[in-house]
Amino acid sequence: MAIATVNPATGAVEREFTPMSDAEVEAALAAAAGAVTALRRTTFAQRAEWMRAAADLLDADAGELAKTMTREMGKTVKSAEAEVRKSATGCRFYAEHAESFLAPEPVDPDAVGADRAYSVYQPLGVVLAVMPWNFPVWQVLRFAAPALMAGNVGLLKHASNVPQTAEYLGTLFERAGFPAGSFANLRIGSAGVEKVLRDDRVAAATLTGSEGAGRSVAAIAGDALKKTVLELGGSDPFLVLPSADVAKAAETAVTARCQNNGQSCIAAKRFIAHADVYDEFLDAFTRGMANLKVGDPAAEGTDVGPVATEQGRTDLVELVADAVEKGAKVLTGGDVPEGPGWFYPPTVLVDVDPSMRLYHEETFGPVAVVYRAADLDAAIEVANATAFGLGAVAWTRDEAEQERCVAELASGAVTINGMTVSYPALPFGGVKRSGYGRELSAAGIREFCNLKAVWVK
Ligand code: NDP
Repeated sequence: MAIATVNPATGAVEREFTPMSDAEVEAALAAAAGAVTALRRTTFAQRAEWMRAAADLLDADAGELAKTMTREMGKTVKSAEAEVRKSATGCRFYAEHAESFLAPEPVDPDAVGADRAYSVYQPLGVVLAVMPWNFPVWQVLRFAAPALMAGNVGLLKHASNVPQTAEYLGTLFERAGFPAGSFANLRIGSAGVEKVLRDDRVAAATLTGSEGAGRSVAAIAGDALKKTVLELGGSDPFLVLPSADVAKAAETAVTARCQNNGQSCIAAKRFIAHADVYDEFLDAFTRGMANLKVGDPAAEGTDVGPVATEQGRTDLVELVADAVEKGAKVLTGGDVPEGPGWFYPPTVLVDVDPSMRLYHEETFGPVAVVYRAADLDAAIEVANATAFGLGAVAWTRDEAEQERCVAELASGAVTINGMTVSYPALPFGGVKRSGYGRELSAAGIREFCNLKAVWVK
C-alpha cells in the first residue's frame, strides 16, 4: 500500500509520501536507542509533567487534527475530535497512575532468606508499535502513554493511509518536553517492519490490526524471541434477553454497530435476540439503522461516513453477496450507492447460517446480522461460535443471567446493559484469535516492563 492520504469521501489522492530510506530508518533506530538511558533515568514526576503537556497539546490541536483524521480515514469530524480528547484523557490517566501501577512489590524477606526482597517494574527499552487507521490517534496513545510513563521508548509504524496523523503523533512527545528520540514516527510500509523488529535495539512490539498482520509480526517476534502484545479483530456478540429494556437496547445496538462507520474491533457485529423479544428488537434496530444519515464525514449532522478504503468496501460487498446468494435476507441497506467515495449503507441481515462467510468472518463496516435464539443457552452458544473473543454485550435485568453471561461469554470484556467501550482504567484485549496481552489499566503498563526480582543480604 502506498503511503498516502486518499480521502475516502471522494477517492481523491490528496498527498503522497516517500517512505523513509534505509539510512533514515537507521537514524531513527539510533535515536531511539540513544534515548533509552536518558528516559530510564527520568523520574515518574518528570515524565508525568511531560505527559500532561502532551495531553494539553492534544486538546489544543483537537480541532485541526480531527479534520486531518477525517480526510485520511473518513470518520466524522465530531467523532474524530472526541477521539483526540479521549486520548488526552488517557495521557492524563497514566500521568497520574503510572507510578502507583509500577510501585515496587515487597516480598517477605524470611520466605527467601534475605534481609530485603522485592520486585520492581523496569522499562524494556525500545518498543515498536504497528498501528491501524481506524482510531488513528487513540490506538497510538493508548500504547504510547503507558509505554513512555514506564520509561520505554516508542517507535511508531502507523497504517499507510494515515500518514499526516502519524507525522503529528511522531513529534507530539518531543514538543511536550520528552527527550529527543523518546517517540518517533517511522514512515515505512508493512514490508519494512521485519527488519526493524529483528533489530537488536528493538526489545518488543505491539500490534493492533488484522489477523494476518498479527500473525506475521508474532511469527517474526517469536523467531527473534521478543515479547508481543496483539489486539486483532473481533466479531462481538450483542445479546438481548427477555428482561431487557428492548427499545434502549436497540438504540444502543445501532450506535454499537455503526460507531466509527462500523470499523471498530469492539463494535457489536452479531445481534442475538431471545425469541420472546426478537421481533420487537429486530424492528426497532432495523428502523434505527435505516434512519442513520450517511454522508460527508466533514459535515455536521452526518452519522456514518465512508468506509476507509476501497478494499474495505469491496470486502463488505463480497460478504453480503455471499450470504444473500446462500439465502440470507437483507432488511435494510445492502446496495452500494452511486457516486464517488467508498460509502456503504447501514445494513441489517437475517437468516444467516454457518454455510455463509458472514457467519464466521468479521464485518469491518456498518453491516449487522441478527439471530434468533430460543433461550439463554442457545444465545450463548451462538455468541461463542466465533474464532474471535474481544468484547461481548448482554442486555438483561436478571442477575442470574448477568452472572452467566460474565462467566460464559468467551471474550476479553463483558458489558451488561451498555456497549463495549475502552476505558483507561479497565484492561483491554482479547482471547482466541482476537489476540493476547492487555492494553490500558495497570495490566497495560506492565506488559512492556521487566519485572525484576531483587534479593538483598
Ligand atoms: P492491517 O492489519 O493490514 O493494518 C494494520 C497495521 O498493520 C498497519 O500499520 C499495516 O501497515 C500493518 N501491517 C499489515 N500487514 C502487515 C504485516 N504483514 N507485517 C507488519 N505490519 C503489517 O489492517 P487493514 O487496514 O488491512 O484492515 C484489514 C482488516 O483488519 C479489517 O477488515 C479488520 O478486520 C482488521 N482491523 C482490525 C483493527 C482493530 O482495531 N483490531 C484495526 C484495523 C483493521 P500498512 O498500512 O502499511 O499495510
